[in-house]
Amino acid sequence: MTRVRTKIDEKYCKGCNICVAICPVKVYVEGESLSSRGYTIPVIRRAEECMDAKREPGEKKKCELCVYVCPDQAIGWENE
Ligand code: SF4
Ligand code: SF4
Repeated sequence: MTRVRTKIDEKYCKGCNICVAICPVKVYVEGESLSSRGYTIPVIRRAEECMDAKREPGEKKKCELCVYVCPDQAIGWENE
């Protein structure tokens, strides 16, 4: 069961798509519509494939590549 998932904060994302390129299991896809700030925000399409999605809250993370590479610190975690 998925207990946590990544989220993209549209307030900070500038649509560079680095997260789309770097995720090894293709959780993100390029977006198609503009955010309120005029950026095309990626869409989380396969949240259940995320290597960190199945961990228990508090368990050590396995990947988090997207969180580290986002230049605008727009990616974080939320509980489902
Ligand atoms: S890497 Fe960050 S700023 Fe770039 S598209 Fe992904 S969430 Fe947005
Ligand atoms: S933590 Fe890793 S597997 Fe999960 S969405 Fe980010 S890059 Fe993909």
